[in-house]
Amino acid sequence: MPRVAIALGSNLGDRHANIAAATAALRDLATPGEPFLTASLHNTAPQNCPPDSPRFLNTVIDLHYSGADPLEFLDRTQSLELALGREPNPVRNAPRLIDIDILLFGKTALNDTRLSLPHPRISERPFVLLPLQEIRPDFLP
Ligand code: ADP
Ligand code: MG
Repeated sequence: MPRVAIALGSNLGDRHANIAAATAALRDLATPGEPFLTASLHNTAPQNCPPDSPRFLNTVIDLHYSGADPLEFLDRTQSLELALGREPNPVRNAPRLIDIDILLFGKTALNDTRLSLPHPRISERPFVLLPLQEIRPDFLP
């Protein structure tokens, strides 16, 4: 029964509302009664995005999940992205209403075609690393 750290990002539409809606939905996936931690919001410049992309709002959530299968959890977070209105876009890093990335799933190390854990780009993304370390001080890159 692992603790799961999740990065949220939005740079389209009402970014605060998108992050709040994703946070509320993740609370419903979390084990009731266990700590549900939310980091500060960061207003960040787009990185490796198409020209003129809007700024992002980023944060990290740390929750307890009672399932044991990280791919099943990915199914849930991808369904949630669609439910919150994200439209598939073939352009890499195109502006999105919501991005939900799984950073850590307990101690799972995985290199599946659909899921890499821990998320391989945590350390090169200050907008992920800073909020993650705020609520998961045990995480050392
Ligand atoms: P990005 O998050 O890189 O901006 P997407 O959200 O479109 O781009 O995700 C692209 C793919 O990354 C997803 O289809 C998913 O299968 C894969 N992926 C690999 N590892 C992870 C992870 N740790 N968390 C979320 N998605 C992941
Ligand atoms: Mg993603």
